[in-house]
Amino acid sequence: MPDTKFDTMFDYAPAPESRDVVDLKSSYGLFINGEFVDGSGPSFKTVNPATEETLAEVATASSDDVDRAVQAARKAFGVWSALPGAERAKYLFRIARIIQERARELAVLESLDNGKPIRESRDVDVPLVAAHFFYYAGWADKLEYAGFGSRPLGVAGQVIPWNFPLLMLAWKIAPALACGNTVVLKPAETTPLTALLFADICRQAELPPGVVNIVTGAGETGAAVVSHPDVDKVAFTGSTEVGRIIARTVAGTGKKLTLELGGKAANIVFDDAAIDQAVEGIVNGIFFNQGHVCCAGSRLLVQESVQEELLAALKRRLGTLRLGDPLDKNTDIGAINSAEQLAKIRRLSDIGESEGAERWSPACELPGKGFWFPPTVFTGVAQSHSIAREEIFGPVLSVLTFRTPAEAVEKANNTPYGLSAGVWTEKGSRILWMADRLRAGVVWANTFNKFDPASPFGGYKESGYGREGGRHGLEAYLDV
Ligand code: NDP
Repeated sequence: MPDTKFDTMFDYAPAPESRDVVDLKSSYGLFINGEFVDGSGPSFKTVNPATEETLAEVATASSDDVDRAVQAARKAFGVWSALPGAERAKYLFRIARIIQERARELAVLESLDNGKPIRESRDVDVPLVAAHFFYYAGWADKLEYAGFGSRPLGVAGQVIPWNFPLLMLAWKIAPALACGNTVVLKPAETTPLTALLFADICRQAELPPGVVNIVTGAGETGAAVVSHPDVDKVAFTGSTEVGRIIARTVAGTGKKLTLELGGKAANIVFDDAAIDQAVEGIVNGIFFNQGHVCCAGSRLLVQESVQEELLAALKRRLGTLRLGDPLDKNTDIGAINSAEQLAKIRRLSDIGESEGAERWSPACELPGKGFWFPPTVFTGVAQSHSIAREEIFGPVLSVLTFRTPAEAVEKANNTPYGLSAGVWTEKGSRILWMADRLRAGVVWANTFNKFDPASPFGGYKESGYGREGGRHGLEAYLDV
């Protein structure tokens, strides 16, 4: 009997993307007022999570450095906000085009520093980054028509996480600049390199000095940005815990605040759904970007009557996923971003097992060096289990079941979060009925993790407040 299993039928030859396209420096400074400058804090190392190799030394911005960056942004605000929208648009279009021209370089560097597969950084992250700048460039001279006026706020302090370093930068910087604000942005400590390459792109685009400033460092640098008295607007993406600290810091200061925090999304499959299509959506929902996605479909709610069929198909599919070198074009699952994050995923998975859920992973060899976790499915999960409640932020799926649509809604909404949800069914009327009742900022129907710069994104409850993307995303950067 011939072996017809997809994963063993073909032997994949390695297909590594070349690193040569990236000019990696041994050390990087801060980007303040259009110049790369030294930081006054101790520098830190950024590593390739797939190999633990040190990629570069990066400067830490102290509160004095952050102050210099804010002053530069304040000075530039006068010039930038006075430009007609059509002139600001020209800069944004130029940045978008340079991002396209340097796409390969950005994608390789993102995969090196973050651990995500090149297939994702090349085909998802970087194209979306360019699309964001194109989209908001289009708004810059049409702000009056968006319905929020056209008065910028001033200096925006922006703090972003490590899961989509460049894409989160684009979500923050593109609308801020389109509206006439200037920015001081802090990338995450483990993924600063593409933000610094973006700084180089700002220079190439001849953006006026001080309009974009990048300050690298850890949480303390972020805290200095957020609490700086001359920052008018704070935008944060990251954990709910840090979001709470920031909300407390900003309370009563008059600063405008948007928070995009955690999630524990339900991906709901009804018995009339196209099973193979749903399986692809489940895989994309939780294993895309190693599950380091705030809107990941980490809770699968499957209608009891199709549970067996669906799980069998899902397990077969997971057996074909390829985990390994992020720079290999065949790789589906890359490295976990840091040792800390790996420890958190391991801890929560162990708790899942000790609470009685059944753990399963496909046979899959993990590389000897670096931070790795196999795709993992927990069945027999109850709503009270930690793995059904806490954000794991890794390639771990919890499977729960339901019998009726009402039960599906109740279970889906039984979470402190409310960022996203997915519904899989053949019936249009059921999609609308569900979408009406799900407390989530985004509800995907027969798809998952689809992003578009024209579409607003954001949460309810502990997933934060404010919207990014689309016309709505302008409101956060205008004095309404
Ligand atoms: P954090 O929320 O700590 O990090 C997000 C950003 O905030 C980083 O740039 C971080 O700096 C910075 N930061 C940390 N502390 C402060 C502070 N007091 N004031 C201002 N800025 C601060 O997320 P972690 O990276 O620690 O991840 C922890 C967990 O958070 C994950 O396991 C995951 O569950 C969740 N998470 C959710 C994300 C989402 O998009 N919803 C994104 C990332 C994480 P630095 O990292 O450099 O120290």
